[in-house]
Amino acid sequence: MTQTKRITSFHPPRRTLLGPGPSDMNPRVMTALAQPAIGYLDPAFVTMMEELKELMRYAYQTTNPLTFPMSGPGSVGMEACFVNLVEPGDKVIVCRNGVFGGRMLENVERCGGVPVVLEETWGEPVDPNKLEALLKANPDTKIVAFVHAETSTGAQSDAQALCDLARQHGALTIVDCVTSLGGTPVLLDAWQADATYSGSQKCLSCTPGLSPVSFSERVIAKVKARTKGKVQSWFMDLNLVLAYWGETARTYHHTAPGNSLYALHEALLLLKEEGLENAWERHRRNHEALKAGLEAMGLSYLVKPEARLPQLNSVYIPAGVDDLAVRKSLLLDYNIEIGAGLGPLAGKIWRFGLMGYSSRQENVLLVLSALSAVLGEMGYKHEAGAAEAAAHHAIAAQHVAAAKVKR
Ligand SMILES: *Cc1c(COP(=O)(O)O)cnc(C)c1O
Repeated sequence: MTQTKRITSFHPPRRTLLGPGPSDMNPRVMTALAQPAIGYLDPAFVTMMEELKELMRYAYQTTNPLTFPMSGPGSVGMEACFVNLVEPGDKVIVCRNGVFGGRMLENVERCGGVPVVLEETWGEPVDPNKLEALLKANPDTKIVAFVHAETSTGAQSDAQALCDLARQHGALTIVDCVTSLGGTPVLLDAWQADATYSGSQKCLSCTPGLSPVSFSERVIAKVKARTKGKVQSWFMDLNLVLAYWGETARTYHHTAPGNSLYALHEALLLLKEEGLENAWERHRRNHEALKAGLEAMGLSYLVKPEARLPQLNSVYIPAGVDDLAVRKSLLLDYNIEIGAGLGPLAGKIWRFGLMGYSSRQENVLLVLSALSAVLGEMGYKHEAGAAEAAAHHAIAAQHVAAAKVKR
């Protein structure tokens, strides 16, 4: 026997997750995860699955019967949309204004689709005029794919406008709602979106590894009418997944991640209890308070005000400040995780997430105070306490406004 370090139980440090996901889990969600395992065809489990689909339809604001969680992270939901919908030779317009649009493009290529890329500057929302021009130039377009909330930049695109244009030109839509679901309005039926996917660990604040998806009747028709052979992925083929998640004939497809599904059920129930509108409003209020504080520290936003995501705040790193040293100190000295910039924005921005259960007033004050201390130590000139004061001021103004509404 070789001598190795004695391994003991793993106890993760307690962090406050204020990055681009995962977000902090509500204690009720953690309790759900710790419940006993039962079989994936146990009648009690099946009842829970039906409730889960109903809660998911509420979160997505849809009546789509085909709304369920894929077993796998948001990336699996994304891939499921592409492998089922894109047949070899299908022309797909991919809107790329950040990292995740780039991944959509990868998916189209791997499915043998013919991509047409709408390039947008990172930090900008997708311009509907550019989409209209591309649709006119490519009348044989079958699908339009875009990211509603681009987590790599913090920009939100106008999903209603983009879906409307696609439909007017006879194209189906694939919409990434990973970061928007639960944080900002996602209105599938109003948008008439076709294939949508999300993730469990962003504004739903559940454990990572589940991807809520929803498909319109038009998607089912297209999948049924496929002419170029079977869906290339066995695991993600909707025809097969539905043997387990569909309305009838529940049979084994793969072993469902039971405890994670209990947790998603609880996370969605928390969202329903709070009310979607209240959750959106909470994300907006906490964003306003954070913004007031960051700006009081002299930091400025990447995204223009009208396209900013309240749950993902991207700000420029001030000149002369060491990106990595700041994030390391926040993590190790203050137990706060924030996000780094990706791709062309690496080293240029920080991303402050206020997602789901992490979107709380005390977290806003905590991160502002910690960031101010770290920046101060690193010689960045700003008035100590100004950020916290600005956030307090913004919160007080919100209280006054809320009281006026009540009266
Ligand atoms: C996080 C994210 C994904 C990928 O989700 P995973 O759970 O990490 O696979 C896809 N799209 C967007 C916009 C995201 O923010």
